[in-house]
Amino acid sequence: MALIVQKYGGTSVANPERIRNVARRVARFRALGHQVVVVVSAMSGETNKLIALAKEIMPDPDPRELDVLVSTGEQVTIALLSLALMDLGVKAKSYTGAQVRILTDAAHTKARILQIDEDNIRRDLNAGNVVVVAGFQGVDEAGNITTLGRGGSDTTGVALAAALKADECQIYTDVDGVYTTDPRIVPEARRLKSITFEEMLEMASLGSKVLQIRSVEFAGKYKVKLRVLSSFEEEGEGTLITFEDENNMEQPVISGIAFNRDEAKVTVLGVPDRPGIAYQILGPIADANIDVDIIIQNVAADGTTDFTFTVHKNELQKALGILKGVQAHIGAREVVGADNIAKVSIVGVGMRSHVGIASLMFRTLAEEGINIQMISTSEIKISVAIEEKYMELAVRVLHKAFELEEA
Ligand code: ADP
Ligand code: ASP
Ligand code: MG
Repeated sequence: MALIVQKYGGTSVANPERIRNVARRVARFRALGHQVVVVVSAMSGETNKLIALAKEIMPDPDPRELDVLVSTGEQVTIALLSLALMDLGVKAKSYTGAQVRILTDAAHTKARILQIDEDNIRRDLNAGNVVVVAGFQGVDEAGNITTLGRGGSDTTGVALAAALKADECQIYTDVDGVYTTDPRIVPEARRLKSITFEEMLEMASLGSKVLQIRSVEFAGKYKVKLRVLSSFEEEGEGTLITFEDENNMEQPVISGIAFNRDEAKVTVLGVPDRPGIAYQILGPIADANIDVDIIIQNVAADGTTDFTFTVHKNELQKALGILKGVQAHIGAREVVGADNIAKVSIVGVGMRSHVGIASLMFRTLAEEGINIQMISTSEIKISVAIEEKYMELAVRVLHKAFELEEA
């Protein structure tokens, strides 16, 4: 007998028929004698609908109230799935995040899980119940409902698996695993049998939304056995997230390609080249809680330099406003922004031991006439910022150049 945590995303619980389908799968695991904790998302589209509703009332909604509102999406599905299980004769009990007591910090709309009370869940499991937990939500020390950021049900699933020391955490979604890139963009994308935590972490942070990045962090930290699978298929091994040394040496150099349309670029032109400039530019940005991604500064030839960095598209105006405020003080000539950029990244642990990866990437983009605006690298990834309209083309040609298609 194993303890298994299963998480089902929005499309997997999009309507009553699919909820019944989930219940049937859970019932099969129960019939094999396993204990099952199920985490569900809201029905697909519900979270977006609730956010839009809030914005109709208040354009920039109060975060506490927004969390009260959007957490209701998951409250609907836990009850529906529990009913579907009962209808199959399976004992089930639903829990909101607060009822479990998934304790988070107080950062509304992007809270972090601090601690999970396992007592209620253990008691119900031992009494033969399937425990159905609302994903994406928790409660802070003061009792306020919080949410974990978009895609946060993945993190609920993995965090519960870690807290309960589950034998496996299964993430059921609308694709049958993690692919070399988003199969919606590249139909030739190939499912990976396994991917290392490190690579998955990069893929998630660089824009592949198949797993929320924090869920991967949790899985790595607490050594959760994590698998991504299809909720629409009866069989299939999905993709296992592994530790590198479990893998054989046949690793391809590049495992996948990620992309992100959410970034915008800020450039400060004609900055005097002197110590402290980076701090004077990025200090106020950090103070305003704006996350900065790629940063580039030219080496000055004539005493001045240009300083460019990327932020989330939603924060471009705020960042520009801040910099225009300090422009005179810094002595910069101009501050400009652009939101028509996208970031495309290749990821693979094989980069550590292979040369020529960057040059193949750059040559491939050059052959398509795609201009690279910014480059950033780490040991296992290379990212480029390019004009957004070339993003899909870039992903497709890179996928081919690195021979990632189905053999
Ligand atoms: P869920 O609602 O189940 O959480 P998501 O929409 O959040 O599902 O994530 C699944 C989607 O992630 C897929 O439908 C796919 O379009 C997208 N995706 C992006 N990159 C990848 C990738 N490398 N492999 C698989 N799916 C990916
Ligand atoms: N329902 C939430 C969202 O749409 C959480 C999730 O689906 O993981 O972001
Ligand atoms: Mg998701």
